Amino acid sequence: MKVFINPGHAPNGNPDPGAVNSETGLRECDVALAVGKSAASYLNAAGVETELLQSDSLYEICEAANASDADIFVSIHCNAVEAEEANGTETWACAGSYRGSVLANCIQSQLVNALDTTDRGVKIATPGVNGLYVLTNTDMPAVLVELAFITNPGDEDILAHDQDALARAVARGVTDYEQLILGGK
Ligand SMILES: [Zn+2]
Repeated sequence: MKVFINPGHAPNGNPDPGAVNSETGLRECDVALAVGKSAASYLNAAGVETELLQSDSLYEICEAANASDADIFVSIHCNAVEAEEANGTETWACAGSYRGSVLANCIQSQLVNALDTTDRGVKIATPGVNGLYVLTNTDMPAVLVELAFITNPGDEDILAHDQDALARAVARGVTDYEQLILGGK
């Protein structure tokens, strides 16, 4: 199996760092890259092939993913809102993709079990309504993971200090999916 991993936002935050915690300066682009790279190492160790691309161009990401022969696509992000209280983990899949929602459930379960974050559940993005570009424009089962809220103090602490556990949970979610759908091939 091969996984295309897309850490969200621009490399080195230039021009777009994604969300930033105003107190600590922790940037979404850095968390996503660290977790994505580390998840790739865990997957490689488990015999899963990976390709990783962080880019400011969503078009470039989808083109690369669709040319990669990857079986699944995983985009990694951190959530953010103005209300500091909001917290937890959610994973998005594209409407109509059974395999995408299975993958989303596998990753979501591993993350909330490993990190004990609030389980906000799997969310469905419907093209033309609340579609997410990378989910709508990739050819394979695709998910977008919102690891936790970078704007919440408790979640921020996890995003800053538990990146290895986050990466392991993402990788385990992928291998759970592999077992369920592909029978370990
Ligand atoms: Zn993001």
